[in-house]
Amino acid sequence: MVNRERLGDLFKSLVQIDSVSRREGGIAKTLQEIFESLGAEVVFDGAGPKVGGDIGNLIARFKGSRADVVPLLLNAHMDTVQPGEGVKVLFSDGTFTSDGSTILAADDKSALAVIIETIKILQENRLPYGSLEVVVTICEEVGLLGAKNLDYSLIKAEYGYSVDATDTEGIVTRAPAANRIEFKVHGRDAHAGAAPEKGINAIHLASRAISEVRIGRIDEETTANIGLIEGGKATNIVPSLVTVAGEVRSHSPEKLEQETQKIVQSFERQVSSYKEAFPSDDGLPKLETVVHQDFYVLQVPEDHSVVTLAKEAASNLGREMKTKMSGGGSDANIFFGHGIITGVLGTGMKDMHTVRESIRLDDMIKSVELLLEIVQLHAKKAV
Ligand SMILES: [Zn+2]
Repeated sequence: MVNRERLGDLFKSLVQIDSVSRREGGIAKTLQEIFESLGAEVVFDGAGPKVGGDIGNLIARFKGSRADVVPLLLNAHMDTVQPGEGVKVLFSDGTFTSDGSTILAADDKSALAVIIETIKILQENRLPYGSLEVVVTICEEVGLLGAKNLDYSLIKAEYGYSVDATDTEGIVTRAPAANRIEFKVHGRDAHAGAAPEKGINAIHLASRAISEVRIGRIDEETTANIGLIEGGKATNIVPSLVTVAGEVRSHSPEKLEQETQKIVQSFERQVSSYKEAFPSDDGLPKLETVVHQDFYVLQVPEDHSVVTLAKEAASNLGREMKTKMSGGGSDANIFFGHGIITGVLGTGMKDMHTVRESIRLDDMIKSVELLLEIVQLHAKKAV
């Protein structure tokens, strides 16, 4: 039923519309026209100005042919990473790539093409489906800002699917929560040659704290990283300030908290033991700590409709459907934190965020077939 050429053409036209994060206005307008031409009611929320962007999140509501069915959420994001401007699409051996100078933007425009083709097939074949809420977010790539600032009063669906992964035979049901941690270690500046004893070396202090911290894979569900360090002015000045930033991720909220605290305590310990050893009148050294909850955990229960519908749909197509664990956060984490149970489906996109990004048209077709089956099963069951 999938119109191979139509799907390929739509994908090509979408990736050629520039839409790096915060400049999604152009693609948003095109998507609005497409969704409205398919009979949807389209609204934009007020997230744009909140994140410094030129347009808000797009919500397209399709009534469907079955009014008695609870609404289903379908999600993709419309923004891309850089280098994402002026994408030139190549197609050979059934595979789309860029010309090597930009990303392809299959992340996440393959999902937009898949969702739109699915709706076209439902309509032209008069297949039964319930109401669909298609939520296309902005600024996913810059910290899930669209989903974080989404106007949730506009969403009625209590569950659904985010289409933003690789594997067409997998559904991501678990993804970690993450904390971002930032430290500012304040020391005291002094001439490094003339009066080093007057200074407190912030870089040295911070590096002692860092050397105590456990990073990398802490256990099978927890990771930690120190990813940024900035400080100092010149080799002949004792540095008075250094900024250090890192993150902790875990599928377990308790471990997330524990590991975050361990890192914070190691910085606190270094600063306070320095103070004890060298008491001063100006309160230096001093530590400023900010812990920011970056995203919530995603934990879709195995027996939730989101999983059982996907598994049944796959088996109807004679395919496998495995539940998967992801190491990264996505819009689904944020929706989940707002009580919308969201699994993440794949389109076949590969090597995302690189100039080698690619996708096979056959994989996109598989993704449409699965989504089509899911939407129809949902209309049959969720009354
Ligand atoms: Zn993505």
